This record gives sequence, C-alpha cells and structure tokens, in this order.
Amino acid sequence: MAPLDLAIIGSGSGNSIPDERFDSWRIGIFESGVYGGTCLNVGCIPTKMFVYAADVAEIARESDRYGVHAKVESVDWPAIVRRVFGRIDPISAGGKRYRIEDCPNIEVRTSPVRFAGKAEGGAYRLATEAGEEVLAKRVVIAAGARPVVPEEVIASGAPFFTNEDVMRLPELPERLLVLGGGYIATEFAHVFSSLGSRVTVVARGDALLRYKDHEISQRFTEVAKQKWDVRLGARLERVEQVGGEIALVFQDGTRASGDVLLVATGRRPNGDRLDLGSIGLELDETGRVVTDRHGRTSAEDVWAFGDVSSPYQLKHVANHEARVVQANLLRGWDSLELDAFDHRFVPAAVFTHPQVATVGLTEAQAREQGFDVAVKTQNFGDVAYGWGMEDTTGLCKLVAERRTGRLLGAHLLGPQAATLIQPLIQALSFGLDARSMARGQYWIHPALSEVVENALLGLDL
Ligand SMILES: Cc1cc2nc3c(=O)[nH]c(=O)nc-3n(C[C@H](O)[C@H](O)[C@H](O)COP(=O)(O)OP(=O)(O)OC[C@H]3O[C@@H](n4cnc5c(N)ncnc54)[C@H](O)[C@@H]3O)c2cc1C
Repeated sequence: MAPLDLAIIGSGSGNSIPDERFDSWRIGIFESGVYGGTCLNVGCIPTKMFVYAADVAEIARESDRYGVHAKVESVDWPAIVRRVFGRIDPISAGGKRYRIEDCPNIEVRTSPVRFAGKAEGGAYRLATEAGEEVLAKRVVIAAGARPVVPEEVIASGAPFFTNEDVMRLPELPERLLVLGGGYIATEFAHVFSSLGSRVTVVARGDALLRYKDHEISQRFTEVAKQKWDVRLGARLERVEQVGGEIALVFQDGTRASGDVLLVATGRRPNGDRLDLGSIGLELDETGRVVTDRHGRTSAEDVWAFGDVSSPYQLKHVANHEARVVQANLLRGWDSLELDAFDHRFVPAAVFTHPQVATVGLTEAQAREQGFDVAVKTQNFGDVAYGWGMEDTTGLCKLVAERRTGRLLGAHLLGPQAATLIQPLIQALSFGLDARSMARGQYWIHPALSEVVENALLGLDL
C-alpha cells in the first residue's frame, strides 16, 4: 500500500487539520480513545456544562442577600449528566461518522498507534496495537496528555476517578475527596460542592491555584476555605478503603475521608507512549515532544502541537498551534515562509467559584524580570455593578510598566472573570497602553467592566 500523505495521531485539535485544502491528500487519523479528544469529551466542554448548573445552584443559595428567598430543593444529578452527555456524545459520534462516511480521502483507525522506525523509501512506519502497519510520508503528533495518578494512590489499590470518568458517576457523592489544588481540582470542587457534595480539597502546596498571581491565589484560597475542607501542605502517605469509605492518610498522621476520590494532580503528555526513539526523537525533561516555533520536531516531516508538546495544555493554544501546523503542512517542511506559534500572551481561565482569569506576567514575574512596575488592584465591590451583586471577594489586578504604561499582566477573580478579561488580552496582544485603553473608548455604565476601567485609571504611571 502506498504511504499516506499524512498521518494524524489524535483526534482532538488534530481532527481540525484536514479541511478542503487537503482533499487531494490521503490522510489517516489515529484515535484510540473517544473521538474528538479531551476538550470535547472529558475536558473543557462537559466541565463547563456542569459548572453552569453549579453556578445556577450557587446563585439560588446566595439569593437571600438580594431579598429573593430561593432555595435549592434538590439536585437531579442523573438529569445533569444526561443533559451534558446527551449533547456531547452525539457530537463526538457525528464527528467520527463524518470523517469515516463523508471524507473519502480520510481513513480512521481506532487502535493505539506508535512509531516503528522508517521504511526503506523514507516513509514513517506506524504500528497499531491491532497489528496493522501503516506508512506515512508526514506525521502530525497531536496525542494530547493524560491524568497523572500519584504512586501512593495506585499502590493502595483503592478506587479513584479522574476527569475521564467522574462526570459519569451514577449519583452525586455525599462526600468527595479531591486530590490536587490546580484548575481541574478547583473546577470539580465547585461543581460537586455547589450541587450538594461535601468536598475536601487536598493540595501539596501552601495555597490553591498557587501558580497564579499571589494575590489571586491567596484570595481564592481564603474563599475556598469557607466552602470546602481545604488541606494545604498535605503529603499523602497512602489511601485506605474501609467498606464504602475512602481515607487519605497523610505523612503527619492526619486523615481525610470521603465516599469518592477524584485525582486531579496534573496531566502528563502522551509522547512517552509513541516509541519516538524509533525515529530519533526524544522527549524533554518534562515529557514533552520538542518542536520549533513552526511545530516541526527534529524528525523531518514530523510535526507536533497541543498538549503533547505545548507547556500550556489549553484548548485555545492547541487550536492556535493546529492552525499554524495546518498552514505549514500546506507550505512544506522546508518553506521559508512558515507560520509561527504566538505564545506571547496566553490567557487562562479557571471556571471555579469565584472564576479566575489571567493573562501575562504576575506581579512577582514582572519584578523578577526587572520591570519598574505599577500595580493596581480594584475590587469588584468598588463599582456599581459589584454593589448590585453584593460582591465582596472579586478583584481585578493589573500590572503595567510604569514608564510606558504598557500592560504586562492582568489577573481577575470574580463573576464572569473569563469574559471580563478579554479586552485586557486584546490590549496586551496589540500593545495598547493603559491610559489609551482607559480613556480612548467608552466603558458601558454601569457594567461590571467598569472594574477594569477603574483598575486601568488607578495605575500609578
Ligand atoms: C477536566 C479538564 C478541563 C479542561 N478545561 C479546559 C478549559 O476550560 N479551557 C481550556 O483551554 N482547556 C481546558 N482543558 C485542556 C484541554 O482539554 C486540552 O488542552 C486540549 O484538549 C488539548 O488538545 P489536544 O488536541 O492537544 O489533545 P487531546 O484533545 O487530548 O487529543 C489527543 C487525542 O490523542 C489520542 N491519542 C493519544 N495517544 C494515542 C495513540 N498512541 N494512538 C491513537 N490515539 C492516541 C487520545 O485518545 C486523544 O483523544 C481541560 C482539560 C481537562 C482534563
């Protein structure tokens, strides 16, 4: 069989590569998991659909403060699960069916694949676990990442869940243990606690979301402690299962018990499962496939992007990188006009409660890099819409270069932070300085965005 023009390993952002410009290419898509990848099936999208339900419950619970006496009478967990996956599963199945039935130039294989060196003519040999060997002239590695499960958990043999299965639990657990203090942990903690579980969050660090700006991480941790049993600086020794109960036993002798354990302790890139050594590729010390800024690995005509190679592990980054690699595939490996990844201002949001959104440098990073910084923290409660919301915890923190007014970083915590931050992402991306941004446009009064306007005006430039 003649070699494929292109093999794509992974159907997450990898699935977006073949469009009509590739109609004359023979393409193989290899997907060993659920079609559509992490974001669609077990990541961004289902979690945010759960988060929305959790936010609704949270608003109802907090309604007394507005003089509205609502309460959450009951939560129909199976109905929530049906709503989410009733929408998502058909999209995943439809995406796969479309590739198989409507794209005559595309072959889909569902067995895990790995490299098996090069064939005589120079094409890459790809071996599937099902025993098939496929040759390809070019390969795109878009194999994503998987949950890391600590050795102490595996060794205990106790049952645990990850993002891959916790959203399909048959019933809402009464008590949930969440191992991890990052964004996946805090999003799920919000979902389950707002829907009615008692949640314990166990983190190794001294704060939750500890890679965020210090002020955000501190404020978030304070808020979280009021809702969840938060164990910080925790060193897990072992996990015990006694009857239906799971207990986390820590090195200092303390324990935390629950009915269900969710492990959310980070994600490991899947490059280690691809036998990359057979084509002369190595992973870096963090386990990522190394690429240049065009998405090229050091093996000719092998490209990589997304969670398998990117330090960001975010869907909007995977999509951006996919577009770059897509354009570059069409131009050719040796083209002098290849597109490049733009990682200057990668924003990220945490859809927990309260929401967190960040872009650019933290205050500490800006100082470490030697900037003379101006910093302003504006509370949501300082603006009229914040009064309307009775908000007491939200903040917008801006970091700018004092001399030029150039924005270096923006850090928001509070309702709609992920949406409110967008004009700040735009300002950083297009080099708009704080003064021009504040006074060069109208800000709708009395919208919540006034918190951004006031933070900009409050910078001591
Ligand atoms: C719980 C959770 C919530 C998230 N929320 C957000 C969010 O709100 N916003 C955001 O930006 N990002 C979020 N992310 C991250 C986001 O999902 C990822 O960054 C994104 O999906 C990465 O896309 P990808 O194409 O690189 O990899 P993936 O979508 O993971 O696709 C890789 C695919 O490759 C397949 N594969 C791997 N190895 C092989 C093999 N050997 N053979 C065949 N197939 C293989 C896998 O089965 C997988 O389907 C979240 C992630 C999680 C886990």
